[in-house]
Order: sequence, then structure tokens, then C-alpha cells
Amino acid sequence: MIVAVIGIILLLILLILAIRIGFNKEMSDDILDENTVIHASGIYSIIRKSPKEELLKIRPSQEELIKYLASINEDICKFPVSDKERKKLVEDWSESINRNIETIEQGDKEGVEFYYFQFSPETCPVCKSYIKKGQFVTREEIFRYPSIIPPFHLGCTTCLNPHHGKENLRDTTELGMFPLFSNESLPQLPDWKKVFTSNVIKGVTT
Ligand SMILES: [Zn+2]
Repeated sequence: MIVAVIGIILLLILLILAIRIGFNKEMSDDILDENTVIHASGIYSIIRKSPKEELLKIRPSQEELIKYLASINEDICKFPVSDKERKKLVEDWSESINRNIETIEQGDKEGVEFYYFQFSPETCPVCKSYIKKGQFVTREEIFRYPSIIPPFHLGCTTCLNPHHGKENLRDTTELGMFPLFSNESLPQLPDWKKVFTSNVIKGVTT
């Protein structure tokens, strides 16, 4: 009888131990999963950090632009550049930086992974030998190389647009959609000193 009771007690102890071991294992699995998620979201939030600060670091300042433009009398098409046009070129530069940064910041809120280049309001004659309309970059490429954010030079009409489609653009067959990066290294981009006075800038009256 005593042996049977001891046996039952031992069995109960073993059962409790088994349950505890199982429970602990489940707990540690949960912790592991949680860590994996935190780790992934950490990287994700770094990539999604606004590229504004990094971009402004590598782009010339307004003072630099004004100083440079003071020494320029004509643009790449040999059109004369007036004082009003110089002022407009600097204003458009800042406006274009802000607009493209806003596009990316808004895209980050919506989880946009791809952005494609477009010329607006007209084709940029400086950029067209570097970038084709519809060429795309990933959000990670923007994070790694903020210099791929337009404007690339004074009077640049290139802009970035978000691609909202669900498909991976790397696999797309859409006409004109192909990656800007052919390998890991940064493609050549125009020199900011190339001045283009578009029809919008030419003969500004304000
Ligand atoms: Zn351009």
C-alpha cells in the first residue's frame, strides 16, 4: 500500500516536472519569436528613416547655389539666364528637394517599396542621358544612396513617384519599367552645376 502511494506521488512529481518543462519551452519560443520581430522591425525603421538629413548633407546649400549662379550667364541650351531666373532656379531647387522628400515620407507611411523616375513638367535634357523615364529604385537603395533623390542639378525636372502596385518591379514586364541599378554600385548622375532653364523658368515675371 505504502509502495503504491509513493509510486503515485513519484508519478505526480514527474508529471508536474514534465508540464513545467513543456511550459518553459513554450515561453522561450515566444521570447525568441518576439526578438525576431523586434530585430526585423529595427532594421525596417532604419530604412524608413526620412532621407532629408542625409540628402541635405550631400547637396549644395542655397548660398552655394546663389554664388555659383552669379557666375553663370547662360544655361546648357545657351539661353541667357536673368536675375529673376537665377532666383527661380534656387527656389525650384528647394521646392523639388522638399517635394521628393515628402513623396518618400508619405510612401513610408503607406509601405511603398518602389519609386520610379519621371520628368515633370517636361523632359530634363541633362538627366535624360543618365535616367530613363520609368526607371525605378527600391526604398532600400534610396536609404543606401540618398543621392539618387532628385533634383540632380539646377533646373532639374526629374522627380520620384511612388509605385503602389503589389507586384515586385524586379519581375515586372511593364514597358519602360527597369531598375536604375544594374549592380550594387551607384550609377553616374548629373553634376549639380549643369543649369537648365525649362520653359517654366524661362522669362519668369514674378
Ligand atoms: Zn535633370
